Amino acid sequence: MEMTESVLAAIKKNLGQAKKSPFYKKHLAGVNPGDIRSEDDFLGLPFTEKEDLRGAYPLGLCAVPEEKIVRIHSSSGTTGTPVIIPYTRRDVEDWARMFKRCYETAGVEPRDRVHITPGYGLWTAGIGFQAGAELLGAMALPLGPGNTEKQISLMVDLQSTVLCATSSYALLLAEKITQRGLRPKIKLKKALIGSERWGQKMRRRIAAELGVQLYDIYGLTEIYGPGIGISCDHECGMHMWTDYLYYEIIDPKTGRRVKPGQAGELVITTLRKEGAPLMRYRTHDLTREIPGDCPCGRPYPRIGTLVGRSDDMIKVKGAMIYPSRVDELLAQVDGVSSEYQIMIDHLNGKDMVTLFFETELEESGRPHLEKTVRDSFKEKIGLTVTPKAVSLGDLPRSEKKSTRIFDNRY
Ligand code: ZN
Repeated sequence: MEMTESVLAAIKKNLGQAKKSPFYKKHLAGVNPGDIRSEDDFLGLPFTEKEDLRGAYPLGLCAVPEEKIVRIHSSSGTTGTPVIIPYTRRDVEDWARMFKRCYETAGVEPRDRVHITPGYGLWTAGIGFQAGAELLGAMALPLGPGNTEKQISLMVDLQSTVLCATSSYALLLAEKITQRGLRPKIKLKKALIGSERWGQKMRRRIAAELGVQLYDIYGLTEIYGPGIGISCDHECGMHMWTDYLYYEIIDPKTGRRVKPGQAGELVITTLRKEGAPLMRYRTHDLTREIPGDCPCGRPYPRIGTLVGRSDDMIKVKGAMIYPSRVDELLAQVDGVSSEYQIMIDHLNGKDMVTLFFETELEESGRPHLEKTVRDSFKEKIGLTVTPKAVSLGDLPRSEKKSTRIFDNRY
């Protein structure tokens, strides 16, 4: 996004605030707000990596006196030390304000009943969905994840109109609702889906089976949580709340900015955060800036739907695979459903790639479909895979973000 005078001023202020934390005192030692006079000065600052934040465990990121902290959240790592993010009262309020704006962008109104399935607690951010809904004046139904039977009966009895979920959990709910023939009894109109990379096929299935319009909501715990951006009715990228943050898109390998519109990694600098301000934080989410104005007329710039994570790109036998390319490829093959898993193994000195995908076809039709998938992979990705068709529902569904590529080689 554009670096205006006012953005530069906000960045300087944020740097001053960040430098009150033990972490940034060290990480940006010798750099002071007065040194940042231009965009180039800003671009000379080092990135902040998640690994750096882990090193600040437990409260090294805290940039205010402890009595100003009202809450902490934490981002889980699959391995190793967690990252602890302290929030002041204003941070918590700012987050709720951004979230309210997300709901408004999705056309959610005070009369809506908002069914919240993301988790509550230290690691997760269901509370963000709730605070935004309450600030808007809607009715929050704070269910949290799990107990799908109960979720569905409450959805029917309480006539939920807005579903908040990960794509994977929305799909699970949609499938269960369809299986039980409950579609006529549910009143959902909209679904806010936590941003992760998800394919067109999955999107169409959730929208069709639940009868909802979908909105992609973006966020990460390190920067408030979900709710820092969302797509609008026009479904052409996510508007980012640039009064609260500044973002850049960089080449994940060189760290340099990509040309406008090119895909790269999203890097975020907070502009108003008190408890744990961040400078040039590498999200590792791959996306692109969408040029031009949105037909909705909102002044906030847009980024595209996430296409993957820069750390998800996997090199096998000289070919790069990353999940959105696989989504795209499978979306073009008739008979292949949205769910798949890729297993990469090293056997007898060779890398082997097995692709499991779900299909509605009976056993007899599967060999032909597998051949089509194998040929398509060879042609478009340059990789030989062993496709294995399985029945709908055979692959695991998860309440969290779904992992689809498993690299078992190391
Ligand atoms: Zn728009």
